[in-house]
Amino acid sequence: MSCFKGKYHDELIANANYIATPGKGILAADESTGTIGKRLASINVENVESNRRALRELLFTAPGALPFISGVILFEETLYQKASDGTPFVDILTAAGVLPGIKVDKGTVDLAGTAGETTTQGLDGLGQRCATYYKAGARFAKWRAVLKIGPTEPSQLAIQENANGLARYAIICQENGLVPIVEPEILVDGPHSIDVCADVTERVVAACYKALNDHHVLLEGTLLKPNMVTPGSDAPKVSPEVIAQYTVQALQRTVPPAVPGIMFLSGGQSEEEATLNLNAMNKLQGVKKPWTLSFSFGRALQASTLKTWGGKPENVGKAQAALLSRCKANSQATLGTYAGDSAQAAGVAESLHVKDYKY
Ligand code: 13P
Repeated sequence: MSCFKGKYHDELIANANYIATPGKGILAADESTGTIGKRLASINVENVESNRRALRELLFTAPGALPFISGVILFEETLYQKASDGTPFVDILTAAGVLPGIKVDKGTVDLAGTAGETTTQGLDGLGQRCATYYKAGARFAKWRAVLKIGPTEPSQLAIQENANGLARYAIICQENGLVPIVEPEILVDGPHSIDVCADVTERVVAACYKALNDHHVLLEGTLLKPNMVTPGSDAPKVSPEVIAQYTVQALQRTVPPAVPGIMFLSGGQSEEEATLNLNAMNKLQGVKKPWTLSFSFGRALQASTLKTWGGKPENVGKAQAALLSRCKANSQATLGTYAGDSAQAAGVAESLHVKDYKY
């Protein structure tokens, strides 16, 4: 077996390692037009291009926030948008040392014959799209595969189909210079225990790395974006220390040390919960962790910012301060040094869970 040795080999490794720099993480701001519409509706703001642009400008120009961020995932529309002073968003990010990323999947469709399990679309024409995105300044990509936990789920079909899709996506990205973020999200929905989540996470992540190896993907030039190992949304909660132990153990068993960074999704946890769980993982002593453990949060970085903004220009400064506070807290969590001092801010303890979450 020989893994990818193409034109972008060294650049992929350098960019994946840069994104995984301890102290930094990813801001996931790649909500599709439909998903951002739901967010804007929650603050009574109309889902039009100018409002989507205003929100993204608020995020990308928040004073002091970008030093805590190594990458921002964008939706295609945002990759080509400009700030109100005419500067392309890509230039603002790049000038601040933040790599622009791009969501390249086209959402999920049902797998026939399953109980609502899905596969992710978007492989047709993907190479061409990646080449275009690279020219526009993107240096990494995201593809979200979704699995769920149920009485007989995830099925072997869903595990195999999604692992194979992620591997095809990953090698196509690498052929076109984009670091692939491999995201097999196991939804938190359900009454299952943390042990069940650990078992499913191990099976799913193991299948992904088998497929990535079979497809000759250069693991050193990839990142993993998994769920944390937690009890289901309808089961009693456990402490961050327990989540940290279960999560790190599941990943030790399945993620090769060749992978530079594991950038967690927040999956409906409150902002504060996601930060405390990440912090607890990085605080674990005497445990092998051959990769950076960091964040690629969407909801858990933006929720209090969005609420504080409320679509009103006069609130932009306060909203940017809320974003800075979360970015700083999560940066500290990647180092295991978060002391809980951002826990008092409005809304940061609120659950952000959405059943059957679509992105
Ligand atoms: P959440 O952090 O809101 O789960 O989303 C991150 C993401 O990018 C999902 O693909």
